[in-house]
Amino acid sequence: MKPETLAIRATHYLDQNAHAVAPPIMLSTTFERDPDGALPGGFIYSRTDNPNRQLLESALAQIEAGKHGLAFASGIAAITAVAQLFQSGDHFLAEVGMYNVAKYLLEEIFGPFKIQVTYVDMSDLDAVAATIQPNTRLIWLESPSNPLLKITDIRAVVALAKKHQILTGVDNTWATPVLQQPLQLGVDIVQHSTTKYLGGHSDVLGGALIVNDDDLATRLRRIQNLTGAVPSPFDCWLVTRGIKTLPLRMREHSANAQKVAEFLAAHPKVHRVHYPGLANHPGYAINQTQMRLPGGMLSFQVNGGFAGAAQVLSKVQLFTRATSLGGVESLIEHRRPVEGANSTTPEDLLRVSVGLEHADDLIADLEQALASV
Ligand SMILES: *Cc1c(COP(=O)(O)O)cnc(C)c1O
Repeated sequence: MKPETLAIRATHYLDQNAHAVAPPIMLSTTFERDPDGALPGGFIYSRTDNPNRQLLESALAQIEAGKHGLAFASGIAAITAVAQLFQSGDHFLAEVGMYNVAKYLLEEIFGPFKIQVTYVDMSDLDAVAATIQPNTRLIWLESPSNPLLKITDIRAVVALAKKHQILTGVDNTWATPVLQQPLQLGVDIVQHSTTKYLGGHSDVLGGALIVNDDDLATRLRRIQNLTGAVPSPFDCWLVTRGIKTLPLRMREHSANAQKVAEFLAAHPKVHRVHYPGLANHPGYAINQTQMRLPGGMLSFQVNGGFAGAAQVLSKVQLFTRATSLGGVESLIEHRRPVEGANSTTPEDLLRVSVGLEHADDLIADLEQALASV
């Protein structure tokens, strides 16, 4: 099936009672047993599993072309479950541009359990090879990265990791399975914040893991049940609904972002645009071998330093000044102040989640905001 068809079929559920075409939301936390103790519906208790989560998890596996899907209460809960696979004394390599809340998670929560992390620029393969230690157990990638849209050669890092028997994971939130399928590139674990493009409407928090290996799936499912960071049936229902239009939305997000990036790249008050769909992006060629389209996220650097970026931010009307990404509405954010004191992000950088408004309107808004710089 093509992605558009799969997104609709994988999330389709025909209720056997009413024959409703849209799935019902089943809020029940518990499920009846037969007199002999058997579970006719296959469900015991909703933390362990429930119909709405089962539908979502099956859809997640199908759209990532994977075997097992697991849904979590947030993207960060999904990353937590991955970290919980490991032990004291283990070492991780993570992309230097890793989602910064995940960095705090690993340092503040897993650091005291003696999990060590080294951050490395994954687009520099020699640096990755040089940073591998005898106790390195996980290499964690994010491509495109945040907020500089750096591209990692996923196949090359996987080849290196396999040589050292190291597990690999990709935070695929920004690309989505419509544009990039890391399991097909040999990666062991794919993670999403479904809060972003999969939900797609800025109204539900969620996370996901997709794996092929049966043992890994069993261990993650055990962690999911024992730590309980699971989404509610309604959360699952919203993400399931979002997935139905994901292929259409991603095509449009990407087409809009390409136009906005090209406009910005030609603008005299912008000195740098970070978007993997621009031919001068250092990861352009590699990205064409692993992403179907360059996606809906970009960042750019404005003349006039911090003040220049702040000025653009204060003048935009169509873009909403907010963090996060992946919704239908375009968002803009001045990253440096959001990331705090340890941030290495350029002070003149604005990050944009290009939404589904018309590209001409978005460009006109940026044009008038840049004119004031
Ligand atoms: C938002 C985000 C996360 C965290 O997900 P939550 O749903 O907010 O917990 C992780 N990785 C990336 C790339 C994100 O954009």
